[in-house]
Amino acid sequence: MTILSSLRRASRSAPLASKLLLLGTLSGGSLVAYSDSNKKEEEQKQKKKKVVVLGTGWAGISFLKDLDISSYDVQVVSPQNYFAFTPLLPSVTCGTVEARSIVESVRNITKKKNGEIELWEADCVKIDPANNKVHCQPVFKDDPEASQEFSLEYDYLIIAVGAQVNTFGTPGVLENCHFLKEVEDAQRIRRGVIDCFEKAVLPGLTEEQRRTKLHFVIVGGGPTGVEFAAELHDFIEEDITKIYPSVDEFDIRMNDEVIC
Ligand SMILES: Cc1cc2nc3c(=O)[nH]c(=O)nc-3n(C[C@H](O)[C@H](O)[C@H](O)COP(=O)(O)OP(=O)(O)OC[C@H]3O[C@@H](n4cnc5c(N)ncnc54)[C@H](O)[C@@H]3O)c2cc1C
Repeated sequence: MTILSSLRRASRSAPLASKLLLLGTLSGGSLVAYSDSNKKEEEQKQKKKKVVVLGTGWAGISFLKDLDISSYDVQVVSPQNYFAFTPLLPSVTCGTVEARSIVESVRNITKKKNGEIELWEADCVKIDPANNKVHCQPVFKDDPEASQEFSLEYDYLIIAVGAQVNTFGTPGVLENCHFLKEVEDAQRIRRGVIDCFEKAVLPGLTEEQRRTKLHFVIVGGGPTGVEFAAELHDFIEEDITKIYPSVDEFDIRMNDEVIC
């Protein structure tokens, strides 16, 4: 006789109180089993070394992809819950590539790993090496409930927070220019470039005013500056007259003057 058929017979013959007892016994047993397995998981988790990774850029994500996370208790802290493929950032500035095509959700990346990785969308604001702790501030500053500082303990701390943009003391850059490092920067530049053309085609502007609106200067001649220059060149050469036919009448020039 199967367990189910015995249960059916018992429930038909037994009064209500014993039915409740039967159910109680069943659910009690499964609860014990559940709490036992939970306890085991918790014990195993406590035995694992704690790894905290700061940053989800190239270094942080490459590290996570190669880590055997079944052997560690892994937590990731980053103000961005996505990874950005930076080599294609210049192409986002003129719309050749959409921003959404160059980002991937960190949760999607970590989901593919055999184990659990916790991600906290926050900035690490302090490292306390004496107590093996990092202090973190969630990015949601306008929500008091979701902006409370928290701390994490670590056995191993991976610092992969990248670098900050640098003006090398060039006057006016900080106040007047767009940087090109983050996805938001590329989107800001894209809006800025389009706005310049929208303003320039408005009626009533003098030739001189149009020329000023369409005067772009790139500060910095490293790979990022050169790649952006190439994108802007292609955009003006190949796309702009299709979008703004009147621009064809303007005297477009591209100078590659280098000012050192
Ligand atoms: C436009 C552009 C094009 C590029 N093209 C190329 C290329 O073609 N080839 C190439 O090799 N390199 C290229 N690079 C350079 C490359 O992107 C960098 O070398 C690389 O991003 C550095 O990796 P990283 O992990 O050190 O820093 P990042 O990739 O900058 O990552 C830093 C991470 O740390 C997070 N973070 C910052 N502060 C905190 C904090 N307080 N707490 C927690 N997390 C924090 C950030 O949000 C980010 O997730 C390019 C860069 C740019 C800007």
